Amino acid sequence: MTRRLREFFTDQPLWLTIPVIVATSVASSVGALFLLVELLGHGYGPTFSRSLTIAILAPTMVSAPIGGYIVHLLRQVEQARRQAQALAWHDPLTGLLNRRRLIELGERELAIARRAARPLSAALIDIDNFKQINDQHGHATGDTVLQAVGQAVAGQLRETDLIGRWGGEEFVVFLPDTGLEAANTTAERMRAAVEGLAVPAGAGARTGAGTGASTGSFLRCTVSIGVHQAEPDSDFDRWVDQADRAMYLAKAAGKNRVQATAA
Ligand code: GH3
Ligand code: MG
Ligand code: MG
Repeated sequence: MTRRLREFFTDQPLWLTIPVIVATSVASSVGALFLLVELLGHGYGPTFSRSLTIAILAPTMVSAPIGGYIVHLLRQVEQARRQAQALAWHDPLTGLLNRRRLIELGERELAIARRAARPLSAALIDIDNFKQINDQHGHATGDTVLQAVGQAVAGQLRETDLIGRWGGEEFVVFLPDTGLEAANTTAERMRAAVEGLAVPAGAGARTGAGTGASTGSFLRCTVSIGVHQAEPDSDFDRWVDQADRAMYLAKAAGKNRVQATAA
């Protein structure tokens, strides 16, 4: 079965697929009947119309439900395949792409950019003093912060940009068709979006001051972002590593800032 045909039966609504199944069943029953009449050499006599009705209805009543059941099974298999794919590609906490998928897609973007001689930039985002946030407000609140930061950053991106969780409290963003200057602007927007967040501190909150300061029952946090534009000959690891180095420069310069490394 071709992919298009399979997708028709798994993706289209039932009101569209069921008539197709029934029509196919009727058509094949009619075809089979006329073939049989031809083969047996029978004429089209007076009992013929009754035989015709039975000969069409009977196989249709058998084949249509079987066809329907096969489509039902196909849908279940397709749904399971998509769920497995979503699990394999996404980080369960934030719902963003996971590191493995980011590497696959990032390498693809790098190859496309190189072939088309287009600019491509990466941003590595690390939450500032996240260990302190966990220590002071509890791990569950830390998780909420991770989700909120992921959403805030993702909200600043174009549809063609890619974002994922690189690991721990780090995110990576790939910006196709984006040179260093435009990437810096986007990164600054992402930094400001996170700075503007007020994350509910949650029931597990413990008292104590520090960075990631709690304002009432809300908590504020910041990120440091390293930006790097891929060189024409750079490989994936080197490209992301350069963004990582830039991020550490941003940390060293006082955190809550964007730092770029020149290509
Ligand atoms: P810096 O500003 O220099 O980045 O300091 P930091 O505290 O953010 O960095 P550090 O690497 O010392 O701490 C990262 C912390 O992130 C430690 C780890 O327990 C926590 N962490 C990693 N993954 C998760 C997670 O899924 N949920 C929560 N709540 N915490 C996590
Ligand atoms: Mg880190
Ligand atoms: Mg950190």
